[in-house]
Amino acid sequence: MNANINEGPALHCESRLVGCSSDEEPGAKTMFFSQNEIPIKLVSTRSSAFIQRYFPLTTLDSWNDWKWQLRNSITSIDELKKFIKLSQKEIMAINNLKGRLPMRITPYFASLIYRTGYSHPLRRNVIPVVEELLQNQNEQSDPLHEKAFSPVKGIVHRYPDRVLFTVTQVCSNYCRYCTRSHSVGKLDKLGRNDYEKAFAYIESHKEIRDVLVSGGDPLTLNDEMLEYILSNIRAIKHVEIIRIGTRIPVVMPMRITDNLVNILRKYHPLYLSLHFSHPEEITEECAAACNKLADNGFPLGSQTVLLKGINDNISVMKELMHKLLMIRVRPYYLYQCDLIPGSSHFRTTVRKGLEIIKGLRGFTSGYAVPTFVVDAPGGGGKIPLLPDYIIEHTKEKIVLRNYKGVLCEYPEK
Ligand code: SF4
Repeated sequence: MNANINEGPALHCESRLVGCSSDEEPGAKTMFFSQNEIPIKLVSTRSSAFIQRYFPLTTLDSWNDWKWQLRNSITSIDELKKFIKLSQKEIMAINNLKGRLPMRITPYFASLIYRTGYSHPLRRNVIPVVEELLQNQNEQSDPLHEKAFSPVKGIVHRYPDRVLFTVTQVCSNYCRYCTRSHSVGKLDKLGRNDYEKAFAYIESHKEIRDVLVSGGDPLTLNDEMLEYILSNIRAIKHVEIIRIGTRIPVVMPMRITDNLVNILRKYHPLYLSLHFSHPEEITEECAAACNKLADNGFPLGSQTVLLKGINDNISVMKELMHKLLMIRVRPYYLYQCDLIPGSSHFRTTVRKGLEIIKGLRGFTSGYAVPTFVVDAPGGGGKIPLLPDYIIEHTKEKIVLRNYKGVLCEYPEK
């Protein structure tokens, strides 16, 4: 998995060192702080080695400042080459992304991939390859037809009692298989007027009891903006729960600050739907961020996209699910990869997903088994899939197969 390790050249690039000052210590040591200060001051051994090599004049405070991470995120091939030796397939893809999902990688996430080979699962998440430029006939830019279900800008109202509210198009990292690659990373920002119209839509639809705030990644917005959005949603009497869909604890865990948590706490019941794809994403920093959220009463769920060569085998998936439970994140959905343009190299068969669920159910804790779903092309919504456990079903009885393959009968009368 870690083949073709390369060290890459060290950086001495002053222009990148936003937030540096002369008192910043070159080669600062790894620092661990007590649990109640986490994650603001946490720098793991891995991050520390990366900082020493590539940001030698940067303070740990700067590294742990999420705005520094955003300002210094890697968006061009020239920047990326400073950290990592690129393959021809990667170079060709990055040079031809015009109009497509852009590339963006936080320095934190770069610290997870800078010594990896071309096929490393985390690297494939964020660095495009040339296959991404190929589109097949089944693929569509908006495969879930979200535009058709959007009554006002930013709102997708597909299911009866809940809406998706895409509050930003920005993410700190762009995942190469993103379902919303047709809209994320684009300049089409929501203005105040759009937000007000979205609030008004939710307010005028009394059946909406659940609002999923997503994007892009909502936690790339600043605290004031988040407070504005959440307070307006919470002021609507019939909204029972708010969910935030985010990948931030995985790609920029330092965003989970005390201030952010104090803001979010005001809007309980508030759930966080996180997005993980591989066990190596669960670092000390990520674990600290999730623990902090869990300590503050936010139920945490994880959504995982089934991805070829990244997590499409039982042992990787089981390890991911176990690690999630260890950081108090409950596996929620396993998604069949959506039919977005240039995603064929990521897609597995549906049969593979069923095989993975079959390899989990019964063999590990029920909490570690997500629901496998296909989000139906054309906007049909999420459809859950199970391996064949029903062998026969009559008026008298149902014949079932258990996880060991043993047949069992249950009477219907
Ligand atoms: S974080 Fe979510 S919205 Fe952003 S690119 Fe990844 S999958 Fe898409």
